[in-house]
Amino acid sequence: ALKDNTIIVVLGASGDLAKKKTFPALFGLFRQGFLPRDVKIVGYARTKMDKAEYHKRATSYLKNPNDDPEITQAIEQFKALSTYVSGSYDEGEAFAALNAHLEEIESHYASKEANRVFYFALPPSVFVPVAKNLKEQCYVTTGINRVIVEKPFGKDLDSARELLSSLKQYWTEDETFRIDHYLGKEMVKNLLVLRFANIATGAAWDKNYISNVQITFKEPFGTEGRGGYFDEFGMIRDVLQNHLLQVLSILTMERPVSFSAEDIRDEKVKVLRSIPPITKEDTLLGQYVAANGKPGYLDDDTVPPNSICPTFAATTLWIHNPRWEGVPFILKAGKALNEAKVEVRIQYKDVTQGIFKDIARNELVIRIQPSEAVYLKMNAKTPGLYTRAMPTEMDLTYKRRFTEAKIPEAYEALILDALKGDHSNFVRHDELDVAWKIFTPILHWIDGKNGARPRPVPYPYGSRGPKELDGFIQKYGFKRANDSYVWPVTNLA
Ligand code: NAP
Ligand code: NAP
Repeated sequence: ALKDNTIIVVLGASGDLAKKKTFPALFGLFRQGFLPRDVKIVGYARTKMDKAEYHKRATSYLKNPNDDPEITQAIEQFKALSTYVSGSYDEGEAFAALNAHLEEIESHYASKEANRVFYFALPPSVFVPVAKNLKEQCYVTTGINRVIVEKPFGKDLDSARELLSSLKQYWTEDETFRIDHYLGKEMVKNLLVLRFANIATGAAWDKNYISNVQITFKEPFGTEGRGGYFDEFGMIRDVLQNHLLQVLSILTMERPVSFSAEDIRDEKVKVLRSIPPITKEDTLLGQYVAANGKPGYLDDDTVPPNSICPTFAATTLWIHNPRWEGVPFILKAGKALNEAKVEVRIQYKDVTQGIFKDIARNELVIRIQPSEAVYLKMNAKTPGLYTRAMPTEMDLTYKRRFTEAKIPEAYEALILDALKGDHSNFVRHDELDVAWKIFTPILHWIDGKNGARPRPVPYPYGSRGPKELDGFIQKYGFKRANDSYVWPVTNLA
């Protein structure tokens, strides 16, 4: 782990990701005492800014709603360890100047050891020149060098391979930390414990008991003026191919030999390799249209007119191994829906009929956000002097069970892991490769590479998605209980 003499360099420090995620995460770690002793943070981007302007931007998303003096003081300390260098992404001399700044900081260290962590908060178009220049101009030989990069890693299998191999010329796998921020989320990390630390869950975790699984991402807003970026990628590249597939792999992998990064990632790759490419028959695409006074996707000025980019996608994946053969895994994600929610919903098979008829199926729901919870929908006898079953739940709601716990931000957890050198929650190159293999044919179909482009079906802003969705899910065996299930608590979820 990096304890001393460490500089964290944020490339693209003038941008959105840096402002909204990277700096707040670094500040969160700093306040809790998790950053290396005497750490320095250096921002780098082309924009010319003086120190005051840079500090204003870098701290603009740090929260201090009640003007807590302790936080105000921490923000001042955070500013004091933050400096900024402006320069281009493609010129060696610019990086030589950055290096001179880093060496100046390091000249005050008590020992020769110097560690550098480079965080790419940059568009992918400059990943390769920046990786090259950092390696050639800013690589230390008396300590550890690491780079942290984030999606998008390509647009399909070929482009991802090309990007990966270009970066590999300069940075080894060991030095590279590829973020998928879902892997930093508390509930996603919890999957390993829920599965492998509980014999009760583990025992019914296969095709014999499970009918179908849904992994769902729902956003209650549209592109709202950021449609240019989104339109180039679409829902599948934005959410399914990375975030939801990562959740799927941890949910379905075999038990790893240990918690070490390679043991975990070996198992993830193995299960992903058992998944054939998605077919168009197993895909439903949608695009939101204006409703209830809210604009449609095509009403966003940053979206090309007549775009047929999907803002909703449901796809079903199949895993060909003895544990999961025949179980459909439905990944679905959409913008401008009726609620904000990311969850895993595991629906078990019907109980043996005979003494019961039309009884609700068990479901294990793992809610990743908002308001983390794990609940098992189960049948119990209706209290009273008659014998009748009713659907209820066994419930673990984090806010209620862990009243004192502070759940870390995903980026805090991941940056800390990168400082420790723990790769478990980062995406390995072969994992990315197989993820693209699963999705590339369907993406090429959507992009019109082999013929006419499919038209997404329209759905109203604020709805649950296309009206075709319920039929699509039912086709894979999902049965919705006869809505007798009522959640009585209103103030928690
Ligand atoms: P951004 O604001 O567009 O770009 C970051 C910085 O890079 C900009 O401030 C700009 O700095 C420079 N830049 C922008 N366009 C450039 C171009 N065409 N050529 C050279 N430099 C350019 O991007 P971001 O939203 O921070 O995202 C950075 C990366 O994180 C992207 O790969 C994105 O996909 C990913 N990401 C972002 C978020 C998010 O919440 N924003 C979430 C997940 C992943 P200068 O002009 O000052 O050099
Ligand atoms: P639910 O909201 O009733 O959804 C169950 C499933 O049915 C989802 O797959 C949903 O699809 C689908 N669905 C929802 N409305 C539908 C409709 N009108 N027609 C067809 N399908 C529909 O979830 P639940 O698990 O049964 O829970 C019910 C409520 O209790 C929820 O508000 C839940 O948050 C709450 N609850 C909370 C906790 C807790 O916080 N610990 C525990 C138990 C229950 P989509 O999601 O794809 O739309």
